Amino acid sequence: MNEENRDLMDKIISLAKRRGFIFPSSEIYGGFSSSYDYGPLGVELKNNIKRLWWKEMLNYHDNIVGIDSAILMSPKVWQASGHLSAGFADSLVECSKCHHRFREDVVQNNRCPDCGGELMPPRKFNLMMKTFVGPVEDEASITYLRAETCQGIYLNYENVLNSMRLKIPFGIAQIGKSFRNEINPGNFTYRTREFEQMEMQFFVRPEEAEKWFQYWVEQRLNWYINLGIKKENLRIHQQTKDELAHYARAACDIEYKFPFGWKEIEGIHNRGDWDLSNHSRYSGHELVYFDEKTKEKFTPYIIETSAGADRGALVFLIDAYEEVKGGRTQTTEAKKEVEIVLKFHPLVAPIKVAVFPLLKNKEELVNLAKEIYQNLKKHFMAQYDEIDSIGRRYRRQDEIGTPYCVTVDFQSLEDKTVTVRDRDSLKQERVPIDNLTSYLKERVNFE
Ligand code: ATP
Repeated sequence: MNEENRDLMDKIISLAKRRGFIFPSSEIYGGFSSSYDYGPLGVELKNNIKRLWWKEMLNYHDNIVGIDSAILMSPKVWQASGHLSAGFADSLVECSKCHHRFREDVVQNNRCPDCGGELMPPRKFNLMMKTFVGPVEDEASITYLRAETCQGIYLNYENVLNSMRLKIPFGIAQIGKSFRNEINPGNFTYRTREFEQMEMQFFVRPEEAEKWFQYWVEQRLNWYINLGIKKENLRIHQQTKDELAHYARAACDIEYKFPFGWKEIEGIHNRGDWDLSNHSRYSGHELVYFDEKTKEKFTPYIIETSAGADRGALVFLIDAYEEVKGGRTQTTEAKKEVEIVLKFHPLVAPIKVAVFPLLKNKEELVNLAKEIYQNLKKHFMAQYDEIDSIGRRYRRQDEIGTPYCVTVDFQSLEDKTVTVRDRDSLKQERVPIDNLTSYLKERVNFE
């Protein structure tokens, strides 16, 4: 990462902490490596992303249902899935001098990135997080925190199929935490050991797998674009045979141009019949599909879309970040400074609307502004602010990406209208108070 990009990341990380998006975990104890907590705005941002993804899958596509399966599963699941074998292990190299460990693919020229010492030969390091269930910590009680959410979907394939009377092609979606003992977590929340995934498994006829694979690559790319991520910061990387994961027949990564380089944010995989066949074999329970019409019995192929909610939140945060030198809001103090605006798509923005009285010492203005705020907060995430000049209040909202600010002024007392200021165009429009909820709903709501 060059200095400019490092500086940009530092500014985003600092904004994230200062404005309540993302905090380092266990800070009062000196921190805990690569763990992060989402603050009041961060949790809204991430929840919005998860809700938008869920809605996209279940409401805007046909034949997709959701589940929420357990994190702890039978350890046999991970044998069948291949996660306990070499397929889910990274090559690890250790420095002979400082004993720091690195993923082999991130080091160059056989020298330790930290101290320059010589690296020892690589060995395999399994990424599963081991734990024990019950009071006795012996071999028999070992299990694992799930490394991907999709296994819970495969295990419930038959339950879902039968209970929902689904016809192929159909999908099962799930959002939840996954855990991987990453050797080199880093780049803020990009790579952590605990993270949330949004995965959808689409069960198809084998002969239609290629068609659906292409379909989902396009759908998923467009999802990011439709929610405001700049096209030029996204690209599709088609994996080569050498790059393919142990289960995949074909795979495309959606990559984002982070300040630290082009990196994967979502994978779309043609998993073939790997999962259902392996679970059938290991469990002795046949997981197949019976077509009532054609009387055929077959193992469906699976097209998977696998996105990270944390990587997603980071992408939306970075892509929204803009600095405006010289003051876009034209206040005297702003002219000297750099203003930050997060240009979130309104659906993604954590706070949808802020309400201000023009002056905080005019009771009628304050009362009306508070009444409007109380009303709006039933419908949207809203904030009330009466501190400092209006210009400063706008700047505070721009910095967290609030798309609309409502100001109650003297005219409001007379004609029951308020000004609504648009974050991006900076235009102000007078809107009757009675129409405010519907005005905003049209612009920022999920429904
Ligand atoms: P990478 O190559 O970055 O390790 P991967 O190819 O192993 O990722 P998948 O197994 O395809 O990732 O997981 C799907 C998605 O889950 C990724 O695109 C990413 O968004 C998210 N993800 C995977 N590992 C992590 C992690 N350690 N931290 C945060 N998100 C992750």
